[in-house]
Amino acid sequence: MSNPAQRATKLFVQTFGTATDELYQAPGRINIIGEHSDYNEGLVLPVAINFHTVIAVKHRDDFMFRAVSDVFPGQIEQWEFGQEGDIIDDGHWHHYLKGITAAMAQSGLSAKGLDLAIVGNVPLGAGLSSSAALEIAFGTAISYADQLHLSPLAIAQIAQRAESQLMRQECGIMDQMISALAEPDHALLIDCLALDSEPIKIPDSLSLIVIDPQLNRKQFTQQFFDRKQECKQITELLGLDSLRDLTHLQLQRAKQILSTTQYHRALHVMTETQRTASAARALNEDNIVRFSELMRHSHHSLRENFDVVDPLVDTLVSSINELIGDNGGVRMSDGCIIVLVNHSLTDKVINLVETQYHQQTGKDAIIHLCSASKGASRI
Ligand code: ADP
Ligand code: MG
Repeated sequence: MSNPAQRATKLFVQTFGTATDELYQAPGRINIIGEHSDYNEGLVLPVAINFHTVIAVKHRDDFMFRAVSDVFPGQIEQWEFGQEGDIIDDGHWHHYLKGITAAMAQSGLSAKGLDLAIVGNVPLGAGLSSSAALEIAFGTAISYADQLHLSPLAIAQIAQRAESQLMRQECGIMDQMISALAEPDHALLIDCLALDSEPIKIPDSLSLIVIDPQLNRKQFTQQFFDRKQECKQITELLGLDSLRDLTHLQLQRAKQILSTTQYHRALHVMTETQRTASAARALNEDNIVRFSELMRHSHHSLRENFDVVDPLVDTLVSSINELIGDNGGVRMSDGCIIVLVNHSLTDKVINLVETQYHQQTGKDAIIHLCSASKGASRI
């Protein structure tokens, strides 16, 4: 099959009967470590992966936008810049696009219209952030096409505002920032409070494997929502701006006013940010033994303190841990399993997952062998 850029060009011509002016792309992502950290304004360490959303565009002289996606063939969506109306999430895919133009209009920006044909290979709703890839590819297209000269961070902030405030979905800034700012072969250590970031080289010795066990995504979405609410309550109880500010001493003192569950939730958030900083350092220093340990601790904390690990995923993570030992790290992330492992063990990990998961569940896990890609760009 032709690549997404060729398919986007073809879809554009088929839909609008004319040639496209240019193409833009933005990647999906996984998060190495820093789970449930972004909305608590902590540290995260995501990687953009080699799955992309590509948009073929043609400039218009008016303020109308027309969009088609190969995921929803035949639907041409149309709206005008600044006239988006109600864009609360109701399952309509083009609301992710309308959210971007609405957020731009709210920021006082003005942009001429575009015709858009969207094609991608980021699996939708599979924990790889197809929504951010779509938003960031579109935001980048508008910024270039209208010569708005927005920085990648500004585009990420617009996209996050579109998704969280206008569509009223639960999301932090991580997905948008990594899709906009990523550098090839690097993860990005993001400080979700300061909104600054530092590229962290992924050691050449490591393969990046993403395993999608194809579990019920609704369960993860609900858990995400529940934990976010719980963290908000704890933050208010403790009189903090965010759990990012919590210290060991404060947490010990707060034991009297927090329930046991609340204590464990706060403990995860506080220690996860420390682990994320340490994991970035370990990767920088090529210290895979330390990295491996931190990934194990993160997974353990997600299970014991945050109670978000599915038992099937947990069994698989344990088996992978036994196989790879200190030669890499594995943990659950956003319903998927992330493995960073020495190349020599890649085939063994894949074989283990294929056989064990099928035996246990009768289902096949989807396995992606990924590479760390660059962020959004004009192609
Ligand atoms: P995730 O971001 O983890 O993939 P979300 O539920 O946040 O899952 O976002 C998925 C939604 O984003 C889809 O249901 C669809 O509305 C929209 N979307 C993402 N990519 C595309 C695309 N290529 N074409 C149309 N809609 C898309
Ligand atoms: Mg999403």
